Amino acid sequence: MPRPKTSIPAAAVRVGSSRINGRGIYAAAPLPGRRKLGEITGCLVQLPGARKAIADSPKIYFVELDDQWALDCSDGGPFKHLNHSCEPNCYLRINRQRLEVYALRPIAAGAELTVDYGVTPHAGGMVCRCGAKGCRRIL
Ligand SMILES: [Zn+2]
Repeated sequence: MPRPKTSIPAAAVRVGSSRINGRGIYAAAPLPGRRKLGEITGCLVQLPGARKAIADSPKIYFVELDDQWALDCSDGGPFKHLNHSCEPNCYLRINRQRLEVYALRPIAAGAELTVDYGVTPHAGGMVCRCGAKGCRRIL
């Protein structure tokens, strides 16, 4: 994959209710592919102590950055509302403990932005409601 280019203004996204789960983040204008869209911000928390809190949490606002640190994204700005899809249009990139959001491909205005969460640390997994044709049904 080519090196991602510069970010676009954060104003090009909006937060709204999502049919996938709770609130979601949407393209407010057409977004170019393979660009940095923004970052999920938050507080660094040390593993493995944070894992218990993660497993008990009903929402995914923690992201493990490496084997020592996770990001508590409870106050993570609009991008914390990224929902999971089994066929996502965005991906996350960890860059020196920053959690960057990139578009996988051009995204139409009004489309919900999604990433593939991969395997979540939630106890017992979660049912997936992404609606994608290739949905794995469980997270
Ligand atoms: Zn799915």
